[in-house]
Amino acid sequence: MTTKTIDKQYVLNTYNRFDLELVSGKGSLVYDENGKEYIDLTTGIGVTAFGIADEKWVEAVTSQLTSLQHVSNLYYTSPCALLAKEICERTNMSKVFFSNSGAEANECAIKVARKYASDKGYDRYNILTLNNSFHGRTLATLSATGQQHYHELFNPLPTGFVHADANDIDSVINIAKENNVCAIMMESVQGEGGVIALEKDFVKAVEKFCKENDILLIFDEVQTGNGRTGKLYGYMNFSVTPDVFTTAKGLGGGLPIGACVVGEKAQNSLGFGDHGSTYGGNPVACAGALSVISRIDDKLLEEVTKKSEYVFSELSACDGVESVSGMGLMIGIKTKKPVSDVIKYCMENGVLCLSAKDKLRLLPALNIDFELLKKAVEVIKTAIKN
Ligand SMILES: *Cc1c(COP(=O)(O)O)cnc(C)c1O
Repeated sequence: MTTKTIDKQYVLNTYNRFDLELVSGKGSLVYDENGKEYIDLTTGIGVTAFGIADEKWVEAVTSQLTSLQHVSNLYYTSPCALLAKEICERTNMSKVFFSNSGAEANECAIKVARKYASDKGYDRYNILTLNNSFHGRTLATLSATGQQHYHELFNPLPTGFVHADANDIDSVINIAKENNVCAIMMESVQGEGGVIALEKDFVKAVEKFCKENDILLIFDEVQTGNGRTGKLYGYMNFSVTPDVFTTAKGLGGGLPIGACVVGEKAQNSLGFGDHGSTYGGNPVACAGALSVISRIDDKLLEEVTKKSEYVFSELSACDGVESVSGMGLMIGIKTKKPVSDVIKYCMENGVLCLSAKDKLRLLPALNIDFELLKKAVEVIKTAIKN
């Protein structure tokens, strides 16, 4: 039996996989079972921030792996402490809770928001999220996700979430007031929803409304975090200060980790026993993440912005492209051709791309070689034109 037939027989049918088995890679190149080479513009959906088998990341992970792979949160370990310190110092936030995924990081943020409101004596528990958002696959984060088709199959979902329109401050304020919300949670760029960035004026107005009403402002930076948008975290593009932000995906560079990062206001909302995770703060995952975060400096972010400008200008000018959206190296392309045809052509011609709704979505490694990126963009242009 081949990998494909075994997988089809024994793995639950939740993924509509491409007819492609990947076996190895290096940097932004990956190889299939026949040795065919692909330029990877997917990074495992924004996870392998420095590509496959990046040497510094491998060194950080393996040296931790061979000394202490796991203990438990009953004890102190240095990678967890140092990673929390690094994230807080780089963002002016106060404290971090580590989990293993983006959805779990959001679950923690939801608990922080509810506990913050109840500690204050407010009769508030609803959380407002935006229509077309994506916040995860657990029952609560599905409920938070502002897309009806995710809701219908798993009723009853946890209650306590209301939805308003992105970039419509009146919609947000009205729905927040009607529902007595304790927090507003949003992605700085809606990823799964089609790579749509929020507008700065809207974000500023939401921040002001939250401040005036002691409502927590939460950014879901699971996909937009860790350099992806050209800033360390996506909200930094809007010059706002969240009370809580969550991240995952690129943080681990390829190992599962999530983080719920809490600012001064809510830093003591959760206390002993209020939350926990067996694997959360795992030393190996944290050592990898620390190496990732430490390398996302101004120089790298400038490079991300330069590469982004290149892709935006090349593809905006390409026949068959209706629009290009997103920020940094999180790019959505609306093409005249169906996106599945574009992806298929690219794959046949050695370039791996993603989709988001009806758009082509690119999430290349932050350090992708410029020449490789150019080569991949030429293939995409041909795919779109053909
Ligand atoms: C991917 C994603 C999640 C879910 O992350 P998992 O690690 O799959 O649980 C949540 N929010 C956003 C914005 C995401 O892109």
